[in-house]
Amino acid sequence: MLASTDGWTTCSLGHKHWGRAGAAGLLLHRDGVNGPEVLLQHRAEWSHHGGTWGTPGGALHEGESVQVGALREVQEELGLSPDDVVLGAVSVDDHGGWAYTTVLARPARSIEPSDLRLDGESTGAAWLPVDGLDTVALHPGLAASLHRLRSLLEDAGR
Ligand SMILES: [Zn+2]
Repeated sequence: MLASTDGWTTCSLGHKHWGRAGAAGLLLHRDGVNGPEVLLQHRAEWSHHGGTWGTPGGALHEGESVQVGALREVQEELGLSPDDVVLGAVSVDDHGGWAYTTVLARPARSIEPSDLRLDGESTGAAWLPVDGLDTVALHPGLAASLHRLRSLLEDAGR
């Protein structure tokens, strides 16, 4: 059933965003050989900003917490269950009239892209080193909040 928050909205910065109640994503991170790695999805070409790598997530439903929304989205998009992850800090990217909240999480078990059940919104998923993210096509929302997320990830790694 479609929630009443479905629909496009324009934030104060003039972007077009899907989801009138804002959106949330789950940024899974782990310690890699060369610093932190994050699990990103490669967005299907037909989707908004298709062909870029982004945080799995999506529009929040009415009255839904960012944690519940982020977990629901990774369940839909990657086939992960809430038991697969341990939630951490949140980072809010407030555009005015619309906000994207990134919920950090660590895997509670080993999670490899080959274990995931991707839905039609992604054409792939991969653990990418945070230090190499400037070499791939990033979703603009992730690119814009990367500096903030990077310091959170460093804190989480201590
Ligand atoms: Zn915006």
